[in-house]
Amino acid sequence: MSIEMEEKKELFFSVEAGNSLPAASEAARATVAGWLRAPRASRAELFARADAVRRARMGDAVPLRGIIEFSNRCASDCAYCGIRRSNRALRRYTMPPDEILDVARRMAGWGQMTVVLQSGETPSREGDRELGELIRRIKRETPLAVTLSVGNRPRDVYAYWRECGMDRYLLRFETADPELYRRLHEGGDLEERLECLRTLRALGVQVGSGFMIGLPGETHEALADNILLCRKLDLDMIGVGPFIPNPETPMADARNAWADDPEMFFVALAALRLACPDAHIPATTAYDAVFPGEGRDLALRRGANVFMPNSTPGKYRRDYQLYPNKPCVDEDAGQCSACVLLRLKAIGREPAAGPGHSLKTRGARGEK
Ligand code: SF4
Repeated sequence: MSIEMEEKKELFFSVEAGNSLPAASEAARATVAGWLRAPRASRAELFARADAVRRARMGDAVPLRGIIEFSNRCASDCAYCGIRRSNRALRRYTMPPDEILDVARRMAGWGQMTVVLQSGETPSREGDRELGELIRRIKRETPLAVTLSVGNRPRDVYAYWRECGMDRYLLRFETADPELYRRLHEGGDLEERLECLRTLRALGVQVGSGFMIGLPGETHEALADNILLCRKLDLDMIGVGPFIPNPETPMADARNAWADDPEMFFVALAALRLACPDAHIPATTAYDAVFPGEGRDLALRRGANVFMPNSTPGKYRRDYQLYPNKPCVDEDAGQCSACVLLRLKAIGREPAAGPGHSLKTRGARGEK
């Protein structure tokens, strides 16, 4: 047997989805790092296994979650982010509630049964209350599930939004390394973010988090730690995507740790699916930025099961570029909704009929 074949055999002895990961954290770390180190010749098999686990646990139907980037105002200054407060090269905007509602009313007709409302982090009593009112109106006037992604907030604000009808919340931890987290987030505390996730879970909200792949200096072990933190948090949804340096940030000259081997972005995705078999994992837009025209399709065949079409009105899109080369900035919501259906058809998948709630809460909701 060649060394490569032996390596391959070794790797796939240990590739068993999810629950069979060793419990001890060092052993789990070694196992996941082993998947990430798969020799290139074994990657096709890793991808096929991730795809098989995705099909067995999540099915072939693809939940569509339309994202409305309703404001690019942000009080924070995260080192990697294109809409950080010190970026003066942007026209700042906040969509009026009626305009957001107008898009939301059309989404079910596009097959998008979830609206994801995303913005920078701008805590204010008045803004938080307005957002709660908007959630109520969307729940009253449309059949959509509502996901929010607006950053760290205190428990009472999350509880209020939950009361208004919020179903889910996305809050990425970005890195499982507390020191790196601190440096990226103006001295911020990773534990505080994790506490927000725990609070949301305790309030009965479906919780999503995730991380960037390839922050400078990332090792296979550090990437394994990110994946294992997702597993430990028992997330309902996990969003990951390559770190793409933004020229308007202090990280303009940083290099993605896997820049010379971008297929690693899919290797990480496949390993994530194996470690977290029951999570909704979107094919994030950043994959299309690195692999134009095919990144999200490939992601859907290598472990991802959700698509998030951009439903932000075209006139705002150029001002919501968290990273460069973001796709679809010249399209509008209707065009993106048509495009996603064609893309799914081309890879033999169909949009899901329902909102695609978490597997962990479907029983309680009486859904399939
Ligand atoms: S990552 Fe979020 S909180 Fe940080 S600067 Fe960007 S929008 Fe603001």
